[in-house]
Amino acid sequence: MKRSKLNAIFLATSGALMAFSANAIDNPGAHQHGHAELQVAVDGNQIDLIFTSPAYNLLGFEHRARTDDQKALVKETEEWLERTPLINTPDASCKVASAEVYHEAGDGSGDHHDHGSNGHDHHEHNEHEHSEGYGHSDFEVTQVLNCTGLASAEALLIPLTERFPEIEDLGVQWVWSGGQGSARLEHQERSFSLKSQ
Ligand SMILES: [Zn+2]
Repeated sequence: MKRSKLNAIFLATSGALMAFSANAIDNPGAHQHGHAELQVAVDGNQIDLIFTSPAYNLLGFEHRARTDDQKALVKETEEWLERTPLINTPDASCKVASAEVYHEAGDGSGDHHDHGSNGHDHHEHNEHEHSEGYGHSDFEVTQVLNCTGLASAEALLIPLTERFPEIEDLGVQWVWSGGQGSARLEHQERSFSLKSQ
């Protein structure tokens, strides 16, 4: 639902952005280790965003979590992605109104993926969820943020490249009342301006 709302905003602004959005999320060809995408729609004091990344960038692996350490890492990563505004103003005024994290690396609900005690004998190709056959998996995060001072902020901060050093470049696209723009944050860069078109 949130995705369709965000897509609607992109669609209203730019058919090309809409096409890009659908492509980045639904096309597994967009999966490239070291690269991630953040799509942002700003409306007044509200931000809707979609973050998509190969699981590798966030976890260091893409198979389903097997060891306790891996499961703990998945949980910690999930919680961070749910609680941390993925965009913020310099004075940290953004609050997460809602967030959802989708991924395939957990040990959770998909029991039909569980091969039981023999699971470790299977190649990753055999796991149903890895339909491309390479064992790749992605994270997709949607957030709705409420921020104050958004329009007047000279720069907005993105904590992702600092939190996840495996993200070597982050493509950012946004639409707001002033138009649309895009930026590419290289390793460890974390700020962009809505006004830089
Ligand atoms: Zn991968």
